Amino acid sequence: QQQYNIQRWSDSFFHINERGEVCVLPFQDESGLQIPLNNVIDEVKSQGLSLPLVIRFHDVLRAQVRNLNLAFQQAIKELDYQGEYRGVYPIKVNQMREVVEEIVEAGQEFDFGLEAGSKPEILAVLAYNTNSNSLTILNGYKDRDFMRLGLLGVKMGRKCFIVIENFSELKLLLEVSREQNIRPLIGLRLKLSSESRGKWASSTGDKAKFGLSILEIIKSLNILEDEAMLDCVKLLHFHMGSQIADIKTIKEAIIEGSRVYAKIAKMGVNIEYIDAGGGLAIDYDGSRSSTDSSRNYRLDEYAMDLVLSIKQICDDEHVPHPTIVTESGRAITAHHSCVVTNVIDIKKKHHEDFVLEATDKDHYLLQNMRSTLDELSIDNCQEMLNDAKQIKAESMQAFKLGILELEQMAAIENIYWQVMDQISLLLKQKDFIPEDLQELEKSRAKQYLCNFSVFQSAADVWAIDQILPIMPLQRLNEVPEEDCKLCDITCDSDGQIKQFLGPEGLSETIKLHKIKAEESYHIGIFLTGAYQDVMGVMHNLFGRLHEVHVYADKDDDSGFYIDEVIHGGACGDVLSTMQYNPAVMAQTIKKEIDKNIKAGLIQSRMGVKHIDFYENCLKQYTYLDTQN
Ligand code: PLP
Repeated sequence: QQQYNIQRWSDSFFHINERGEVCVLPFQDESGLQIPLNNVIDEVKSQGLSLPLVIRFHDVLRAQVRNLNLAFQQAIKELDYQGEYRGVYPIKVNQMREVVEEIVEAGQEFDFGLEAGSKPEILAVLAYNTNSNSLTILNGYKDRDFMRLGLLGVKMGRKCFIVIENFSELKLLLEVSREQNIRPLIGLRLKLSSESRGKWASSTGDKAKFGLSILEIIKSLNILEDEAMLDCVKLLHFHMGSQIADIKTIKEAIIEGSRVYAKIAKMGVNIEYIDAGGGLAIDYDGSRSSTDSSRNYRLDEYAMDLVLSIKQICDDEHVPHPTIVTESGRAITAHHSCVVTNVIDIKKKHHEDFVLEATDKDHYLLQNMRSTLDELSIDNCQEMLNDAKQIKAESMQAFKLGILELEQMAAIENIYWQVMDQISLLLKQKDFIPEDLQELEKSRAKQYLCNFSVFQSAADVWAIDQILPIMPLQRLNEVPEEDCKLCDITCDSDGQIKQFLGPEGLSETIKLHKIKAEESYHIGIFLTGAYQDVMGVMHNLFGRLHEVHVYADKDDDSGFYIDEVIHGGACGDVLSTMQYNPAVMAQTIKKEIDKNIKAGLIQSRMGVKHIDFYENCLKQYTYLDTQN
């Protein structure tokens, strides 16, 4: 359990069963329903689909909507807060229709709403958030039509707030409201001066892209008063950035936002909502700390701190308690999906099957490398490591000068890695390992080649060094003995995972099992439901993964059912998105092959097969087919 820290990052949604398999616990209850991920994978494979795959657990999504709302309800009750909580889900975090639908449905009983930050997003939000008690919040830069869509929401009886992000937007909103003859529900976004921390720290402070300064807020209120539209101002919004790891940062932002809210209310504005944006973090590395990939607070503490700070400041300023809005996306979606890939090859450094018998004619460098291996013992590891490194470097020089033959160079390298493996084995008997020898483990790590693209499935790992929990899905009752690096199948040296969570914190390698012959060794990349699912980059034209939507089913022996299978990108589909025309391409190949048939270079029967093969490949999944 400790090797991969699962208890710490899983939030009780995942655990390892007695058979050593990773299971999802859709109801966060170990004594209840457990679904081994490999059972889901087997069912998917039986339907003819192959890995890699995204598995979505819809019950997890529902549970997170509930958890968030209940945390606020509890805090409101405990603190005798007079207002309500009305959360919204920012769909940019994961816009998949099924995800949005599930959140909306699970949020019905809490009047949980949606947030949009672009025109396509508002089009979706207007169509999917039909509960007139829940909120619709419109952030982001807006043009006239974006604003018209917001006003259409109001016209349809929705609580649809247009948030002014920049001072210049106000003029546009006034014009469009006049043109449509609709009184808008206006939100003002405050540019927080409290400094944020973490990877999204630039969301606040003087350098922030969005938000109004206090002066701009006052000017906006004056303009609205002159236009007899002050009563349209209903909401104050601020956002401190995503993945705020330190509760202190959150508290500082809430205190600043609440004070501005209360002052606006005291100016006689009938403002009713305070929107604290997103920021509720995920403990990706399980360290429960204020490091970027963690958080030093629990959900209930977050809710209590928000409610308490707002209450204290409003009481202090003698203004009514507002309805509290948050826009948590990451916290709702991260746990619900994971990427499953399989190991398709192992790049070894020492090849046991390559043996070059010793002869008198061997170059002395090869002889020396052999002696290093022969003389190696528990007491001279450091000395032999230094010798082996030196011989390898000198051999490369000799090879470049044409002094060493290709085969002898290969033998030297092979024995070098054999020496490294032997040293590594000997070190296991020692209590203290010097730093140089610790480095050795990293250099001799095996490269496990996995069928996926980092750029498509874990974009933040590549782009901002995000930590995601990664672990094998089986054999977890066996000690994993191999130090490994994980490489993807893109032809890019960045296409690998460079940081893993280990029992002693972050590591450049991950411990995995020796793979048995014919074994399909599955590796899960967890907590990919927020941002990763939708931000993927089509590097090498590996498109979207196959996706399955899983629901718990207590009445079924397996404990689950697959509600939906969405096929991943076929080669022809991804080519079409880049403006290629697969039909024309197939025609071109057909013409070319026909020409070759006429010229007698290809047999007719074979020619037809080649054409069919090309057309079939256009229909195939973009990832590697490891069954054939
Ligand atoms: N609201 C706004 C305005 C945002 O920019 C973001 C993302 O940064 C969010 C909400 C979602 O934040 P999170 O995913 O941290 O909850």
